Amino acid sequence: MDGEYSEEVLRIAEIMSTDPDVVKSLFDDYKTEEGVLNYLLELNKEYDENAFKNAFKDPYEMEFGLLNVPTVNVTKANTAPSSAPSSAPSSAAVSPPKAEESESKSKDNEEAKSEPKPKKPEIHIKPYTKLDTPAAKLTKWIEVPIKELREFSDHEIKHENVKADDIVCPICRMDYYDDMFTMSPAQIEDLNNQMIYGVQKINVVLFSKCKNHFYHKECAEHLVKNAKSVKCAICSSIYGILEGDMPNGTMNVYTDTRTRCAGYENCGTITISYHIPSGKKNGIHYHGTSRTAYLPDNKEGREVLELLRKAFNRKLTFTVGTSVTTGQQNAVVWSGIHHKTSPVGGAACYGYPDPTYFNRVKEELAARGVLPDS
Ligand SMILES: [Zn+2]
Ligand SMILES: [Zn+2]
Repeated sequence: MDGEYSEEVLRIAEIMSTDPDVVKSLFDDYKTEEGVLNYLLELNKEYDENAFKNAFKDPYEMEFGLLNVPTVNVTKANTAPSSAPSSAPSSAAVSPPKAEESESKSKDNEEAKSEPKPKKPEIHIKPYTKLDTPAAKLTKWIEVPIKELREFSDHEIKHENVKADDIVCPICRMDYYDDMFTMSPAQIEDLNNQMIYGVQKINVVLFSKCKNHFYHKECAEHLVKNAKSVKCAICSSIYGILEGDMPNGTMNVYTDTRTRCAGYENCGTITISYHIPSGKKNGIHYHGTSRTAYLPDNKEGREVLELLRKAFNRKLTFTVGTSVTTGQQNAVVWSGIHHKTSPVGGAACYGYPDPTYFNRVKEELAARGVLPDS
């Protein structure tokens, strides 16, 4: 659904915390997911082959060491919006048409030689929308009456290679509005007016951070129930505060003025000591773990520390799964937020120096809704 990237490209890009273009070019070279994973495994020989591949099938089972990512030259033309949830604050979330506009403009420039695509129809915020149900409050949705949805869908079918059969609610897999594609323009106009004036219900909504996919109102309510957070099933945007399933444990932080993280010779080191004891969950015994992680004791290191604390308090740092390194099942493993478990040795030893580490870990945290202000 999301532009030109296939689902598998987006999924693998997310797991690797890398640009979808990189993964796409791997698919161009190695054709199948199997081929791509074999290549990645070549670069990450320290992992057990089966555990490595299984982890890509179910990212939540994955214990993330630092994956070696291929360097690929990627031309940025024709880039579709990535599925990575934006780290924009909520004020940006209520103005998707604006973002849409600037995107299509830059796209048009880059695509000047090929046929320019017409601008995507915009979904407008209805001034009368009351955000008074749990799902409405959490997602700050925009109501989408039939005419807007039909125009939007026609554009997707004509210019984005989307099939009409695929334009269905992601939850119930049913049409958004019955007969939407077979009604005449006059019928659409008539029903639309009834919706605008409140005679007929508007049953379809666009969540505030989502872009080109919709939900039935009732399905959205069902999805949210009374949860504190919800993750969009299509684009992984997070609404509310996401909590993980990490077992209870402790996170202790020490600062040491004498130790140095390689590359940060002018400041001390922050040492984080995690301890998750073994225990039982849903009747299954899991093996605990103790891990030590390092950050330079400078401004950026302290910023990341605060984000890591937030992630820990939201139970997002570890999960129970299969260890990629040992193959052990029901083990407490990292759940995708990379940590530097050595102050030295470089990326290959999960240590410093690693110039892109801070950016990557902040992206991983943002993808779980952990941001400086939320
Ligand atoms: Zn539905
Ligand atoms: Zn979405």
